[in-house]
Amino acid sequence: MIQDIYPHTLQNEFIPSLTAQGDDLVLNYALKSALVKVEDGRVTFPKVSQISAPNLTYAFSIDQERFFLSLDTLKLEEFALQPLANLRSVKPDPYRFAIMSGYHLYTWYTRNKFCGRCSHPMLHHPKLRAMECPECKNISFPRIDPAVIVGVVDRDRILVTKYAGRDYKGLALIAGFCEFAETVEETVKREVKEEVGLKVSQVKYFASQPWGKDSNLLLGFFAQAESNQLTDFDHQELSSAQWITREDLPQDKEHASLTAHMIEHFRLYGSPFT
Ligand SMILES: [Zn+2]
Repeated sequence: MIQDIYPHTLQNEFIPSLTAQGDDLVLNYALKSALVKVEDGRVTFPKVSQISAPNLTYAFSIDQERFFLSLDTLKLEEFALQPLANLRSVKPDPYRFAIMSGYHLYTWYTRNKFCGRCSHPMLHHPKLRAMECPECKNISFPRIDPAVIVGVVDRDRILVTKYAGRDYKGLALIAGFCEFAETVEETVKREVKEEVGLKVSQVKYFASQPWGKDSNLLLGFFAQAESNQLTDFDHQELSSAQWITREDLPQDKEHASLTAHMIEHFRLYGSPFT
């Protein structure tokens, strides 16, 4: 998955004392796009020495490489804004994860310039990864929206869907945001009922994934269908929903998303409930 960058490690601790040096890498974005260079499927970031923007915020490090976020609009020869959707398979893997994680921070910083309580301009907290209002002391931490991905299974079949009205056209699973005042297990049951009208009995946690493009923390579950009678589905959310047997599932080659990882796991190992 996109966060699996072993033996490399991403250090996400905020270190306020760090100042950008010439060789540090720059993360820069516009809406759903990153300023990078891609050659033969390999991605390169601008270096601090190549830009003139003074406003850089330390984002994170991967091993010894430090990444700084610029919220300015940068224009650099050789670099171009590339849609994040086109960067899902770039190499090396740590840079692919850096693009997504940096975008999460970019989204949060740009949405927290002003206090949500009193409208005063926010300042960066002196010690924490947080924005603080100097007027009313309101503190905003990076927003992370939990959502579930659900592999609904019936013996050797899994329920796969396709989204309606989204750029991503590949196979998907039932998915949805956690609502207030519910557990993630309740989210799983509610989303399956809402999207395909099925009840599930057993719900089993599988794995999680930070998905920075949409500020999500994805929580993957397999769920046992009580009935395999698929009569209709939510046409607002989905363009299709169908049972597919293990042998008819395509092999995953992108190794990016939790959804693909779950489908591939089911293709290789089958139902966790048998
Ligand atoms: Zn305030």
